[in-house]
Amino acid sequence: MAGCVQAVAMASTGVSFTVSSSLSSTHACSVASEAAQAFVRADGGACKSSLRVLSSLSSSSKHSLKTFEGLRFSPLSAAAAVSEVKGLQMPAQGSEMGPRRTTSTTTVVTVYAGKSSPKLQGRKLRVAVVGGGPAGGCAAETLARGGVETFLIERKLDNAKPCGGAIPLCMVSEFDLPPEIIDRKVTKMKMISPSNVAVDVGRTLNDDEYIGMVRREVLDSFLRERAEKNGASIINGLFLRMEVPKDEESPYILHYTKFDGASKMGTPAVLEVDAVIGADGANSRVAKDIDAGEYDYAIAFQERIKIPEDKMEYYENLAEMYVGDDVSPDFYGWVFPKCDHVAVGTGTVINKPAIKKYQTATRNRAKDKIAGGKIIRVEAHPIPEHPRPRRASNRVALVGDAAGYVTKCSGEGIYFAAKSGRMCAEAIVQGSANGTRMVNESDLRVYLEKWDKKYWATYKVLDILQKVFYRSNPAREAFVEMCADDYVQKMTFDSYLYKVVVPGNPLDDIKLAFNTIGSLIRANALRKESQKITVG
Ligand SMILES: Cc1cc2nc3c(=O)[nH]c(=O)nc-3n(C[C@H](O)[C@H](O)[C@H](O)COP(=O)(O)OP(=O)(O)OC[C@H]3O[C@@H](n4cnc5c(N)ncnc54)[C@H](O)[C@@H]3O)c2cc1C
Repeated sequence: MAGCVQAVAMASTGVSFTVSSSLSSTHACSVASEAAQAFVRADGGACKSSLRVLSSLSSSSKHSLKTFEGLRFSPLSAAAAVSEVKGLQMPAQGSEMGPRRTTSTTTVVTVYAGKSSPKLQGRKLRVAVVGGGPAGGCAAETLARGGVETFLIERKLDNAKPCGGAIPLCMVSEFDLPPEIIDRKVTKMKMISPSNVAVDVGRTLNDDEYIGMVRREVLDSFLRERAEKNGASIINGLFLRMEVPKDEESPYILHYTKFDGASKMGTPAVLEVDAVIGADGANSRVAKDIDAGEYDYAIAFQERIKIPEDKMEYYENLAEMYVGDDVSPDFYGWVFPKCDHVAVGTGTVINKPAIKKYQTATRNRAKDKIAGGKIIRVEAHPIPEHPRPRRASNRVALVGDAAGYVTKCSGEGIYFAAKSGRMCAEAIVQGSANGTRMVNESDLRVYLEKWDKKYWATYKVLDILQKVFYRSNPAREAFVEMCADDYVQKMTFDSYLYKVVVPGNPLDDIKLAFNTIGSLIRANALRKESQKITVG
């Protein structure tokens, strides 16, 4: 949900881990130490620049990457690797995408499905994208621009996905989002501890930096319509199931209920395609059809509350995050501003039946600021906790929530959905040589390989942070206390807004590490004291 948590988490993790491994005599320190080790492992992956990753794919190391097995080198694949560094350069619609090697002087050696797969005769590759959220919209746009015949199946074209709608700044530029679809530009964040200590976060932001707040019905429609303008066919339909082909070239047959406005019940329809992208969210039917396996999930609950105008002024560019056992045992509560209302919500994995109790507590904590408000919408939805065991099978791949790409600790998934949709589609465009050849599982696995390299560390760090800081009220007090530090704030926002693991300043890192350890030790002591009181 809020990127702020993610960023604070990333910043503080990087720091506390550096030093804590030498201070392990207290429980707090051992937790930090455990986190430190994990971070070092995680960071080892994250800090490689794309260039270094690509360079390391030399001919001698090609067999060490299991998802590249069975593929061979080619000039076009080198172009694909360059696009990873520079951002994919899509050809104008209908044109051929030839090899592009001009953008980097680094020796880039990578691979593509070497086209034992046959050339398609008299037609383009046909791909169905199931689900029209951020993952599906971005996948469909990229496929269509890349010369693939693209169908996007969405069951509800005015769907308002239950969501806090917080997006990082890099998403605005990377996905070319126009300013009018962003309701609010949040530049201030209040982190509010279990004892209601509020820390202001955001003072280190530059003038042009902000967290975007969107309504999902607006964002999703925009992305779908852009895909359509680029050549994708949008189908208003409910995907039901698909018949999986027995050989490498026969089509997938998708069964769906088509809604064309004439009947609310819809009519049965089928669609034949060569490949499928499952972008149908947390309850993905595509995932079930490929036996992708389950994931743990959180349940998130949100109320959209229209508050009086004078109260809305307070939230003009401000978001709030509440932590504490009362609002969630393992997550946080939020108040995010939208165009003319606020979204108030919370989530939990470990005590789902109590979600309404946590929601009431979140509303109560904010009650003075939302007094006189009217609830205009109540919504709830699962949030995946980790990737599914299988994300690609044959010519089908999962993206976004269907794959399980929401970060722990922050619950952020919109950017990762859009990004994974785009990356998966890029892999298909490249593997199919702009829709002129059949693809196979190796082509889709190129996307998974890149994804895991790019984001594994981010997911790992946030997972650890959730365990360290959300486990008790004293730990949460320590977490909020840390957020007061300017350095944490800077690292926080840089990490969240730009989706990079930010290299820190060693001196500030050490200072912050000691502060972090101090906070955790205090938190630990406080917890022991409060346990005594409870027992006594
Ligand atoms: C309450 C809540 C708050 C959140 N807040 C934030 C936040 O502030 N910031 C953030 O980054 N993330 C947030 N998230 C997570 C974020 O909403 C998801 O990670 C993101 O929506 C994933 O996008 P997606 O495109 O993969 O899936 P979805 O957005 O779920 O889109 C799936 C689409 O597929 C369609 N669909 C599903 N099944 C079918 C079918 N059978 N046939 C046809 N169409 C189908 C759906 O109608 C939907 O449009 C929040 C989640 C929740 C529940």
